Formats: sequence, structure tokens, C-alpha cells
Amino acid sequence: MEIHDRSPFLPEGLEFVLSHEGEVSVSSIVQHTVCLFFSAHWCRPCRNFTPQLIQAYDELKQRGDYLEVIFISFDKDEACFLEHYKAMPWLALPFDEGLRRRICSQYKVDHIPALIPLDCNVKAIVADAVQLIEDYGVDAFPFTVERREKLKAIDEERKGCTLQALLVSDRVNHLYSNNGIQVPLSNLTGRTTGLYFAANWSPPCKYFTSQLVRVYDDLKVTNGDEFEVVLVSSDRDQCAFNQCKSTMPWLAIPFNSKSRHELFRIFNIKAIPALVFIGPKGEPYGTDGREMITCHGANAFPFTEERAVELGAAVEREKEGLADQVKDQKHKHLLKLDMRKAFICNGCRKEGRFWSFCCRICNFDLHPDCVMEENETKIKKEGRNEICIPATKSGIQEFHFTTTTFRAISNQSS
Ligand SMILES: [Zn+2]
Ligand SMILES: [Zn+2]
Repeated sequence: MEIHDRSPFLPEGLEFVLSHEGEVSVSSIVQHTVCLFFSAHWCRPCRNFTPQLIQAYDELKQRGDYLEVIFISFDKDEACFLEHYKAMPWLALPFDEGLRRRICSQYKVDHIPALIPLDCNVKAIVADAVQLIEDYGVDAFPFTVERREKLKAIDEERKGCTLQALLVSDRVNHLYSNNGIQVPLSNLTGRTTGLYFAANWSPPCKYFTSQLVRVYDDLKVTNGDEFEVVLVSSDRDQCAFNQCKSTMPWLAIPFNSKSRHELFRIFNIKAIPALVFIGPKGEPYGTDGREMITCHGANAFPFTEERAVELGAAVEREKEGLADQVKDQKHKHLLKLDMRKAFICNGCRKEGRFWSFCCRICNFDLHPDCVMEENETKIKKEGRNEICIPATKSGIQEFHFTTTTFRAISNQSS
């Protein structure tokens, strides 16, 4: 093949790119898988990604695989570009905004960081390999669709393995208790385990941890050792990891284990906190662990899909007999029945869950039991005002109305 066919820059008349040692002929990288790397130092995601790419680049070099990266700068000016390029071990395109724009449009690059691996005809192998590198590091090479499918299939297979098998494959044979004592993996055998994805820096994690601790303590009393939690931390250093672990009464995957990162990927965790339940035989449940704990607490045990269905049905039963909307003397607007994960009742000031008569405009909530109807409330059936009932729950239950066929309308609004 013609060497010039390999150069994505040839239409621009470019035969040389920059290296730290000076200019490099494009023909000298003809053996390599070439990736175009679009990045800027002012961009935080770029700053986070570049070290991961450097690590993969170095490992591939050591392994003898031919990868070359060409940096295409989105920096503000040439001085920023040169400063930025200093930290990169690969090649670069000379700083030229017009050239960059043309290459971006050729490869449809509309965000950074972007990493475009090229095939031997300088066509993009995949639209963007940043996520591949973030997920699989050096294993992502040579970034083809086939490679990605293979890696996904391996993950899917591992998902079906027990947690012990997952960890052992990474040569991890123990977990840590919160006071730093090593606990053998066999400790999890036969127990329902919650994989808790969290990090020390995250306020939502701190909030959820306190909820999970309550459930954990409750279940220790009622179910003994049937339930365990294992922290999968995404903290970036040992110190943050230690701090994170010290606030939790359960076990943790060691900081130096590669499995931490892999479990995020295998279970497709995109946001923290997240909680994945694994059954006593090692089978992952499809339930949303965070939601189950937040909404139902220890009552959600054993956290299976069947249990989730039962809990959902129980919530629906609570709704039976409640009007769609009511007027209460404590609030000037009509209150609509709505599903709320958690609220503070403006009547009794206590916490509430699920069904609330609420005014979204004023953020006003009432437990159904705390509604005091103003006068009396008319129930409108298929557009005809014909029945009057009180809006309180007890009143409604007496009449056995269901909200699907009746709508309660206040005197004021009708
Ligand atoms: Zn209340
Ligand atoms: Zn209101």
C-alpha cells in the first residue's frame, strides 16, 4: 500500500508531525495503529483522561504493540498547546486552528476528549475510543468493534460468576473489615451481599451510607449473618479509601485490587451511590438496590425481584380509597395525590413515604392521614357532581371509592 494512503493529513499537504525530538515523517508510523487524540488542557475531562491514555500507551509500547497517538490541540493558543503537549509521550499536529477544524469535520468530532483510531485507509475504526480506554485500559487495543464485543462478552460471562470467582480471578483472596482486618472471601458464601459502589468525596454517598447503615444494623438483629455489604470504592487514593471504609461497618474490596474498577464496568455503574444485590448462590439481582433501601429499608430484604413486586403491590394497595385531590384548611391550594419517595409532612412534621397529598408549587406535603378537609368534598363521577364525601382517609375508606373511577374536587374549585 502507498504510504501516503496512511496519512490522514495528506490532503493538507502534511507529511510531518511533531515529536518531542523534532519532526517525524508520517511514513515512519505506517506500521502502527494510529489514534487521533483531540484534547485541551483547559478541559477537566481531558485532564482526567490523558493519564489513562498515557498508561495504556506505555503498556502497549512495553508489550511490543504498535500504537501511535497524534495529539490535535484544542488549546487556546500555541503557548498553551506547547505547555500541554509537554506531558504527552506521543506525537502532535502543529498548532493550527484551521487544520484542526477541517480534521474535526472529516471525523465528525464534536466533543473532547476524543480518540479516533484509524484503519489502514485512515477511516475511523470506531467513532470514539475514550470510553473503551476508560473501561478496559490496554485490553481495549486494537479498538475494533470485534474487540469491544469480545470484551463485553467476557464481562457478561463474569457477571454470572460468583463474587468470589470474580475477585479470585484478580488474585484477590480477601476483603477488609472496617477496622482493617483481612476477611477471607469464603465469608460471603451463602449470604445475600450488597455491592456498594461509593466514594469518600461524594455527599450523596454519605447520605445514602447513613440509610444503609441503619438497614444493615436492623438486619443484623433480625437476620443475623444472612446479609453482608461490600464496599466497592471509586476513590483515587488509599487515604480517601481508608476514610470512606472507616465510616462503614461492613467489608471492603482492597484498594489495590483491579476488581474495584472492573466491578463498576461489569455492573455498568455510571453514578454513585449504587447498590447491586447478589443472591446467596452468587446470582446478581436485577433490582435497584438504592431505591429498595431508600423506599423500603430493611423491609425490602431479601431484595429479590419477587420482593420488589410484593412491595410495589403493597404501595398500590395503600393508594386504594384515596381521592385524587383534596382541599385542606392548612393550605390555600388544591392538594393532589402523588407518589413521593420521601417527604416531611407539613401537618405532623414527621417523615412520609409514597402517598402524599401535595402542592408541587409550594412544596407542601400531607400524609393522607393528616388531611383535614375544609368543608366537605364533592366527588365527581364522569363529570357529574353527585356524591359528597369527606376527604380524610377514614371517610373515604368508608365509601370504598377507588381513585381510578372517582375524582375528588373541592367545593372551592368546582
Ligand atoms: Zn403527617
Ligand atoms: Zn400551594
